[in-house]
Amino acid sequence: MNGGETQTRLRLDLYPRAETAVRSGHPWVFADSVKSQNRPGTTGELAVMYDRKDRFLAVGLYDAESPIRVRIFHCGKPAAIGRGWWLEKARACLSRREGSALTDGTRLVNGESEGFPGIVADRYADTLVVKIYAAGWLPRWEEIEDVFREVFSPVHLVLRLSRNFTTMAAEMGIAEGFRGEAGEETVIFSENGIRFEAAVLHGQKTGFFLDQRDNRARVEMLSEGRDVLNVFSFTGGFSLYAARGGARSVTDLDISRHALDSAARNFSLNPSLAAVARHAVQADAFRWLEDAEGKYDLIITDPPSLAKRESEREGARCAYARLNAAAMRRLRTGGILVAASCSAHVSADEFLQAVETAARESGRPWRELWRSSHAPDHPAAFREAGYLKAVCLELG
Ligand code: SAH
Repeated sequence: MNGGETQTRLRLDLYPRAETAVRSGHPWVFADSVKSQNRPGTTGELAVMYDRKDRFLAVGLYDAESPIRVRIFHCGKPAAIGRGWWLEKARACLSRREGSALTDGTRLVNGESEGFPGIVADRYADTLVVKIYAAGWLPRWEEIEDVFREVFSPVHLVLRLSRNFTTMAAEMGIAEGFRGEAGEETVIFSENGIRFEAAVLHGQKTGFFLDQRDNRARVEMLSEGRDVLNVFSFTGGFSLYAARGGARSVTDLDISRHALDSAARNFSLNPSLAAVARHAVQADAFRWLEDAEGKYDLIITDPPSLAKRESEREGARCAYARLNAAAMRRLRTGGILVAASCSAHVSADEFLQAVETAARESGRPWRELWRSSHAPDHPAAFREAGYLKAVCLELG
């Protein structure tokens, strides 16, 4: 509590709709759902919520600045939140992942869906990268670090912070980067037998996109003898799997030279795959797909989030339709499109509709081969957590 003074527990009363949402397992309480509170709260303290009959409803992490005012830890009966609680939650994360021995790049903690709202932790070989998305964790960071070290036993631990509270963190003496013994800036790990680098200190998110692991394996199964175009290729994840699946050629298309260079290094890490005919194109994917010539047998489109906020949803739907229509025009007869979306604000249905509309408007016969979402180490316990969706179409 503040300044060592004993304050009364922060207590919130919610509007009935929010109460219902919390009871049904939704982990966020928005600022405009709070009907009243007994005193102003401080970011990082525990907030206890009561229902309209004045019974305990839930407890969570308070954030005085964020529109997500409380991130819920627990709903139901009163519970003591402390080191023992976090240890139990972290151990549960670990036991849910038992048996996935083929890869040492694993998401170990997936935020809200696993009881750590606003925290993800990814393991790359012996390095654990913890990314914090909610400022409320800062005052508790040492406790959480200690729990993660005890349960996940990493050799190295990297802390990454959301950009919007790095100043607040600095004021509290918390800096991004290696905690304790420093390791390498780039960690090599292995996913289903393919070696990749993860830029743990400076890469996007925690340094790699583990969520597409199973879709990459699906692409591998479809690649035999095909010319493959990986649009928004980032570090070449889909391309390496395509090469192992027997692709005739792979083309990486990304706007970032840095990303293309990383893909090239990943091929060098896997000498048995480096023999495939490989091309790299640095360009804006939307433009290049519209303007360039050349046809492919398998195209993957996995853009960055196209809707960062709700108001961008409609524009994103149109962008998905336009992007995938352009990709379809680059597909030969019998070609396959794997289209993915990581925009949480665009639902799976909306995304599928956008891609299907593009397929219908192509005037070609088409059929859906499969649809999918995240790899299983990214459990999604509520609607907004299910951000990743992918669909695979074959075009005649
Ligand atoms: N498919 C990747 C993840 C994609 S991340 C994987 O499975 O790992 C998004 C990528 O899109 C980034 O590498 C970024 O550099 C790239 N990007 C963003 N805007 C782009 C644009 N307009 N044209 C091409 N690439 C773009």
